[in-house]
Amino acid sequence: MRIERVELFELRLPLKRAYETSGSRETHQTRVIARVESEGAVGWGESVAPELPWYSGETPKTVWYLLDEIVIPALMAAELHQPEDTERIVAWIREHRMAKATLEMAIWDLFAKRDGRSLSKLLGGTRDRILCGVAIGIQPSIDELLATIRRELSAGYQRVKVKIKPGWDASVAEAIRNEFPDLPFMLDANSAYTLADAPLFQRIDAYTPMMIEQPLAHDDIVDHATLQREIKTPICLDESIHTGDDARKAIELGATRIVNIKAGRVGGLTSARRVHDVCREARVPVWCGGMLEMGIGRAHNVHLASLPNFSLPGDVSASERYFATEIIGEPFTVRADGTMLVPTGPGIGVTVLEKVIRKIAVRTKEYRATRKAPPKTKPRASAAKRAARPSAGRSRAATPRSRR
Ligand code: MG
Repeated sequence: MRIERVELFELRLPLKRAYETSGSRETHQTRVIARVESEGAVGWGESVAPELPWYSGETPKTVWYLLDEIVIPALMAAELHQPEDTERIVAWIREHRMAKATLEMAIWDLFAKRDGRSLSKLLGGTRDRILCGVAIGIQPSIDELLATIRRELSAGYQRVKVKIKPGWDASVAEAIRNEFPDLPFMLDANSAYTLADAPLFQRIDAYTPMMIEQPLAHDDIVDHATLQREIKTPICLDESIHTGDDARKAIELGATRIVNIKAGRVGGLTSARRVHDVCREARVPVWCGGMLEMGIGRAHNVHLASLPNFSLPGDVSASERYFATEIIGEPFTVRADGTMLVPTGPGIGVTVLEKVIRKIAVRTKEYRATRKAPPKTKPRASAAKRAARPSAGRSRAATPRSRR
């Protein structure tokens, strides 16, 4: 398959409620939506880079730059035999995983739709429904936090995750455990602490959270291993895991007992499935993280979370929690038992509201294939390999193109 046409749309939507973590306070989300077309099918992807580079180094602006200048030209010049080829073709690009994932996930959707299969089935998913949890940002007061938790539990969620930061941590865990003696809850620090805070986490052990997510530096696994030896609560890594190899090393070191998988953070669905497989092999459970996705990204998460080792409730929650404007026709809802159904139609299995996207986009750009497809009688099997070579990719990226 050769990609015939790509369109990028930049969407900027207000959040229903501001979302605060230890690293940011966000009131809206800007997302780059990718539409890819080939052989009569259309695939969709959504970037997850936050407004500011507090989570990784990426932002919507860096995503647009990477896609526009490098990723789209490289992929449109390549022959794709399967969705996994995408990752190989852009493997020479260091970092920028959220940018690469935006196109990679659209291409997975494209292949699944062309083949008339659900994305879940194409990935190897085994679940027809996924376990849902909800992530709650830092609140103005403990009372407001407890009221928010009550509201989310009545909506059906099976577990809550609460963001913490220095000064909003042990007292939060204590209040939750006192108010909800049996509630599975977890804490997410987004790298706000150091090893010197080990005594704080030992105090938190008493309130028996399911796990503490990414307490230490975003690029660390060594100190996390040390901390894990000093506390009972399982550590779950998020920011530190970018590849299957990262997961393997963190598990071998004892730095993580649970892994949060986000396709955007690890460069796409191929890499996310590899992290899943590494963890499964090591008997380390995983769950699907969230980045305040709009409908397309949310749909991808639901399909990813249908893989067998996603045995813990993830941060995949109902569409209506975040945005007033929907970009898909069948918003995701949480059932009374705290699960969400995996769509069974082709690809991501939801109707993308293309007219809405075109209407609300604040920036768009279209790319059309200019080179002819290789003749069928004389296959050029080496085309994809050439595109994957670092030298080929770099020279292409550095060459000014006529349409710009
Ligand atoms: Mg996290």
